[in-house]
Amino acid sequence: MKGNMEKKINKAANAMRELRKHLVGSVLEDDASCFRASLDNLRLSSLPRAVIVIKDPADVGVVLKIANKYGVPVTSRGAGSSATGSAVPIQGGWVLDLSALNQIEIDPVARIATVGAGAVTTNFQEQAEALGLFYPPDPSSKNYSTLGGNIACNAGGMRCVKYGVTRDYVLGLNGFLADGSPFKFGLPIKKYVSGLNLRDLLIGSEGTLGVITSANLKLIPKPEKRWTGMFAFKSEAAAFKAVVGLFKVGVSPSILEFLDRQSVSCAEKFTGKAIFEGQSRSSILLIELDGCPAEVRHQRKCLLDYITGFAASHREARTDAQAEKLWQVRRTCSQSMFSLADTKLNEDVVVPLEKQAALIRYTIALKNEIGLATPTFGHAGDGNLHVHIMYNRASKADAKKAKAGIHKLMQKVVDLGGVITGEHGIGLAKAPFMGMQHSQAEIAAMHSVKKALDPLGILNPGKIFEPFEVWDHKLVDVQLPWDHR
Ligand SMILES: Cc1cc2nc3c(=O)[nH]c(=O)nc-3n(C[C@H](O)[C@H](O)[C@H](O)COP(=O)(O)OP(=O)(O)OC[C@H]3O[C@@H](n4cnc5c(N)ncnc54)[C@H](O)[C@@H]3O)c2cc1C
Repeated sequence: MKGNMEKKINKAANAMRELRKHLVGSVLEDDASCFRASLDNLRLSSLPRAVIVIKDPADVGVVLKIANKYGVPVTSRGAGSSATGSAVPIQGGWVLDLSALNQIEIDPVARIATVGAGAVTTNFQEQAEALGLFYPPDPSSKNYSTLGGNIACNAGGMRCVKYGVTRDYVLGLNGFLADGSPFKFGLPIKKYVSGLNLRDLLIGSEGTLGVITSANLKLIPKPEKRWTGMFAFKSEAAAFKAVVGLFKVGVSPSILEFLDRQSVSCAEKFTGKAIFEGQSRSSILLIELDGCPAEVRHQRKCLLDYITGFAASHREARTDAQAEKLWQVRRTCSQSMFSLADTKLNEDVVVPLEKQAALIRYTIALKNEIGLATPTFGHAGDGNLHVHIMYNRASKADAKKAKAGIHKLMQKVVDLGGVITGEHGIGLAKAPFMGMQHSQAEIAAMHSVKKALDPLGILNPGKIFEPFEVWDHKLVDVQLPWDHR
């Protein structure tokens, strides 16, 4: 027993020695660096042995070769904004900090960019827009998240209803397989059907199949004009009836966001005034149209002709500043929920468009059953609603109810023909629900792919496929850069 332990310690020490000898970037072993890399937005902390700051992409190959030789777990990290614990080094080992690989090169003629995995999403969007181009995937975390993290989680956002998700913009991925060999899956060209499409396999695989060092991303022309409107409805059912009807009459919104009455009520209490005067506690749709001026004019007319039959009230933004005020309503809803309880579980479920009203009926029934608030908002244009379960972390009774509530919610979503996650991925938090979503044969096929690409299981071990129960772990109370409380 003692001999085994000694062997393990010696192996770890030898791996560290070899790492320092061959690396260009730095290896951080101090408490503060290891703590920072130990958690993400799930706030479950598991300390790594070391954080390796990657400055030269080739270093990733060096690290993985050594990790393979000594069986060291390796967890890739961008900004650590994952909501599911997917960036937590749950089995220790080494964290690869890729945030310094942040170069951005844009070819405005081909409309293709080559970006480092660590480039921040907003920085890339701003550089593209300065050239009259547009990169639509817009996770709310875009001021912090990295493009490598976006690709590894197949990030979505508000504009997916018209423009699709991160996957729809990835042409090529460059990086390293688990054994340290370099890969180039795809190229900076728009057509490519050579061999099996492993590029798409890596997208959304949460760092379990390879490490991405750079990517070739597609850009589109920036829409010339945007229009924003906000609509109040007496009930969620009326709002969703309007959502389905809008598509039927040919409206193609670039954003179609929904807020339920619980969320609106939180925002109204927070600001002390009704969002629509005389109609407090309405359900709300926020809609953006974009395109050339003639197209936006035509779409606006179709939208207003149709929706005024359903909406109790509406407001249009005539300037960018007014539009910003309307979007502020959505942001306020998110922040103001903390008046209900100190902890928010944010479940990014998706159901078919026509089943959204049924899902909201269920979240209200769930609220009454478990006695915890379930304010819900989200991307109604693609059925991706964020159902929140609010609870007080210190209360064991609350935690028990919240845990039971999530299980019931996930089952309902699957029963409605939906999926347990549309944006955030599985990580640690959603691992218990994989068996609800997927058959044993599907899970076995995923295991086979993982085994083929990472035979020793060193890449982000413990995620997606392994049983894990977040509720057995104490979460840490820590202020993260995106916290606004
Ligand atoms: C306030 C807030 C709002 C959010 N809003 C949204 C939203 O609207 N839409 C949405 O989709 N998500 C959202 N998220 C979740 C999260 O921001 C996204 O999943 C984002 O894509 C993660 O990027 P990151 O750089 O922080 O990645 P990290 O959290 O560092 O990593 C996430 C996963 O990707 C892997 N990974 C990271 N970089 C690489 C790489 N180079 N190679 C291989 N694997 C890698 C990690 O190992 C981990 O599994 C939100 C999170 C927060 C905190």
